[in-house]
Amino acid sequence: LPANGYLLAKLMPLSEFDVIERYFNVAGAQRDDVVLGIGDDAALLRVPADRALAVAIDTLLEDRHFLSGSDAFDIGYKSLAVNLSDLAAIGAEPAWATLSLSLPSADGHWLQAFADGFFSLARRFNVQLVGGDTTRGPLSVTVQVHGFVEPDRALRRSGAQPGDKVYVTGSLGDAACALHQLQAGHAGDPLLVERLNRPVPRVHVGRALTRQAHAAIDISDGLLADLNHIARASRCGATLWVDRLPRSTAFAASCDPEWVLPMQLSGGDDYELCFCVDPERAERLPALAAEAGVTFTEVGVMEKKPGIRCRHDDGSIYSPRSGGFDHFA
Ligand code: ADP
Ligand code: MG
Repeated sequence: LPANGYLLAKLMPLSEFDVIERYFNVAGAQRDDVVLGIGDDAALLRVPADRALAVAIDTLLEDRHFLSGSDAFDIGYKSLAVNLSDLAAIGAEPAWATLSLSLPSADGHWLQAFADGFFSLARRFNVQLVGGDTTRGPLSVTVQVHGFVEPDRALRRSGAQPGDKVYVTGSLGDAACALHQLQAGHAGDPLLVERLNRPVPRVHVGRALTRQAHAAIDISDGLLADLNHIARASRCGATLWVDRLPRSTAFAASCDPEWVLPMQLSGGDDYELCFCVDPERAERLPALAAEAGVTFTEVGVMEKKPGIRCRHDDGSIYSPRSGGFDHFA
């Protein structure tokens, strides 16, 4: 779009071309399956013949997905992390990314920090940035990721069966607790803030689960809402044992007891995986968890009856105050 280039050149210290060349056409991962990367009208990419191409996209908006004035490194990091989390949840191996960036101004320091955050994760998961778009406007970051998965092994939401054990990786509630602290004007517990701003996508777990799990989802809107997506897609329901939801030490130490379960069940942004496994296959999970360096916690069971029922360990019902995060609620 020549209009963009004109506007950017006129109003910004850096041209659109400069921005792309300096900050994005840099040595990240270099992959053999990229025939043509950044710089032409389109990227040319090779998908392995026996794999399906898995594609996911997410937009991050200021004040909606990150607090205004957030660190640019964290925005760059998280814009890729949330997408890799989606690939993990379907069991795909990440390969490429495209980035559409709308910026109020081309601030070199901001762009460098953003790119550092983005590429730190891209290198770690061998993802190559192969293209994108750069425009002037309100701060908005859209990342699309592409990966490969064996078509018959993808972790669909619809594969769960009554009797499956329900697991979650890592711990729940950290990100919601950090957001609560930051919004209250506190500095926030560093470990919790790290979990909010720099979630580690469970890519290796997702890949390994393609051989073990019936269904999986990443927890972006809260366990209750996300497990409900699996239940509905699989035409069944579940019981969750709320006293067993995994808590980090930092979360247990700083979360108001009254808010523990609401944050664990309905707080968003954890980016852990929730997955369903046939009980007969469950014995393999501890080895898999150890290999991935992540804990797996059994938190419930899939059942024929639709809906999600929350119970304490003594059998009594827990009634959640709300569902998960919904942009239009
Ligand atoms: P066009 O006008 O054909 O859309 P652009 O000037 O927008 O081309 O982009 C030039 C090249 O730079 C393209 O290969 C595009 O994919 C790449 N590109 C533009 N913005 C970004 C970005 N933010 N990150 C990565 N690549 C980008
Ligand atoms: Mg363009």
